[in-house]
Amino acid sequence: MDSLIVNSKHVANIINKTNLPVADLAANPYLGCTHACKYCYASFMKRFSNHQEPWGEFLDVKFWKETADFKKYAGKELFLGSVCDPYLPQEKEFERTRALLLQLQNIPIKLRIATKSDLILRDLELLKKFSDVQIAWSINTLDLAFQRSMDRAVSIERRFKAMEIFFKEGFVTTCFISPIFPKITQVQEIILKAQDFCHFVYLENLNLRGDFKRRILDFIAHNYPSLMPLYEAIYINGDLSFWQDLDFKLQEFAKSLGLTYVINERKPQVTQGRRPLLINYFYHEKIKKNAKI
Ligand code: SF4
Repeated sequence: MDSLIVNSKHVANIINKTNLPVADLAANPYLGCTHACKYCYASFMKRFSNHQEPWGEFLDVKFWKETADFKKYAGKELFLGSVCDPYLPQEKEFERTRALLLQLQNIPIKLRIATKSDLILRDLELLKKFSDVQIAWSINTLDLAFQRSMDRAVSIERRFKAMEIFFKEGFVTTCFISPIFPKITQVQEIILKAQDFCHFVYLENLNLRGDFKRRILDFIAHNYPSLMPLYEAIYINGDLSFWQDLDFKLQEFAKSLGLTYVINERKPQVTQGRRPLLINYFYHEKIKKNAKI
């Protein structure tokens, strides 16, 4: 990306406590995210970093003490990438995520990684050194054109392929269907495609707030005008019936496939067998409202 502004940033701590429900700790080797998803909730980070550039067009590459002692984090859950993707294309050059993994490799920490990339394949052998790793790929469409209009990450096919490879290597994998765009995200089809290669399917609805609410509604008005009444009902008038219906349909769908479907499970356990557990996190925003990331 020609317009990308890259800065180096020295930080005292790369690992911080979080009150996100998914982990005890969070680490973000970058500030900013060049995947530039139009619906990114993390874009509020701009406010805390004095960046004036649009989200996706700046990247602070973080450096920390290479000798930092992380032993005190043994036994904790660490979420990599709560406000950036740890496997951005720029990670190929800067290797900050890899540097952190190398520093952590002898510490019995529970790694939780969320990405929209397949660059994580580069670190497959390194990740095998950790005894407890869970990796989630965000996938919210099977339509390449829609994906390209929403984010600058790798194609959905490449994300599925990476998930399959990690699954076959024995890692715990998650297909994170998020955010679900009403009547656009093909939820059932994604589940069918992912079910043989993941332990969990997380389902999260599209939340619209802040700067991006108008942007997404304008996008829908322009590209899917027939869906505008539905989007207005949900996002202007607060009508939740679409999500209630979808919840019901997905429960039925899960039943038809013999899959277990649960609501808001905070610490899902991996069960024996290969069928994924479906977890509905609709209305997640109420849980995340005061979260420190
Ligand atoms: S990958 Fe995640 S952090 Fe990055 S822009 Fe997209 S939603 Fe935001």
